[in-house]
Amino acid sequence: MTGAAPIAIVGAGLSGAVIARTLADAGHRVEVFESRDHIAGNCHTARDAETGVLVHVYGPHIFHTDDAEVWDYVNRFARFRPYRNRVKTTSGGQVYSLPVNLHTINQFFGRTFRPDEARAFIAQRAERGTTDPVTFEEQALAFVGRELYEAFFKGYTEKQWGCPPSDLPASILKRLPLRFNYDDDYFFHRFQGMPEEGYTAMVAAILDHPGIAVHLNTPFSRADASSFAHVFSSAPLDKWFDITYGSLGYRTLDFERFTYEGDYQGCAVMNYADAAVPYTRVTEHKHFAPWESHAGSVCYRETARACGPLDIPYYPIRLVREKEQLARYVALAASETRTTFVGRLGTYRYLDMDVTIREALDCARRYLAGTASGQPMPAFVTPPL
Ligand code: UDP
Repeated sequence: MTGAAPIAIVGAGLSGAVIARTLADAGHRVEVFESRDHIAGNCHTARDAETGVLVHVYGPHIFHTDDAEVWDYVNRFARFRPYRNRVKTTSGGQVYSLPVNLHTINQFFGRTFRPDEARAFIAQRAERGTTDPVTFEEQALAFVGRELYEAFFKGYTEKQWGCPPSDLPASILKRLPLRFNYDDDYFFHRFQGMPEEGYTAMVAAILDHPGIAVHLNTPFSRADASSFAHVFSSAPLDKWFDITYGSLGYRTLDFERFTYEGDYQGCAVMNYADAAVPYTRVTEHKHFAPWESHAGSVCYRETARACGPLDIPYYPIRLVREKEQLARYVALAASETRTTFVGRLGTYRYLDMDVTIREALDCARRYLAGTASGQPMPAFVTPPL
């Protein structure tokens, strides 16, 4: 262990835990400051007291990646069970399969298309108004045409993001595939699974190292940074700078918990595509752990809304018009010495768990290489812009 000042990590989510562990394994002393009363950030899982079901407290998290090193990494700290995410959606009084696949297309249009027929049919309906779609709406119209866009994406996206899809970037829709076969796997990644005992147990194992001290219920601010050799902050970028340039836009989620005796919906995730239904989806948590058996069931009805100052931020909105505000925060961060901003909140990006871990590993390794060679650590290893 080095005798130098410890390193501070702000936030005990995936970014903070992976950086802490990598630095501690290299002999550094690390102090992790978490403002909430638990570790694991928004992938926190806990047993529901009434039903015993393992609940994804801040909404569903399914691990999927093509990154073999990240997959090996998570498997070092948790036993993963095979899990495929199969999502259904209710639209106009019917239940369909997602992502949009041959079953969805045939059911929606009342047809019995073969794959090449469906491909030609959708190509005919696709609206190619622009050659290079920039907005979510342009991308969706070019991708599936107006009928499918209105049935499955428009209402859901307005509820999820609180603005018209014409204001949102095309990148959000690019997360979803369109399939001309009956494959209903939500993700296409090679490695997919669920940690048997949940994400909080996995993050606890990552943090379980004699060089790491975790402080729960302990907010950390810029003023606390001076006694540390370096700070890695996964706290919201705008809050670090006291919202000097105004709040960056986030969506937060409300969960209405209810229980059911038996099986409420027969699947883990049921989306509600219609604008008239106020919630976006219902998650039935016991289906995330099909290897367990529970008579009772606990479900969360999920509603998105604008994130206020006291709410938990979930999704960075990143409207095109917010780019300038973000650029000012990025410039401020660049003038900061000895602080590096990481993760979804620190870099204000929509990050999947595997990408978060990959970036955290890269960031910590860069720090270790820099301390060995005398290179200063930048404010961002992966910049927000
Ligand atoms: N989406 C939609 N209808 C759906 C599911 C998703 O319109 O039934 C859109 C919505 O805008 C969402 C985006 O596709 O934000 C990405 O979906 P994903 O399932 O990746 O969202 P997440 O799981 O991150 O909430």
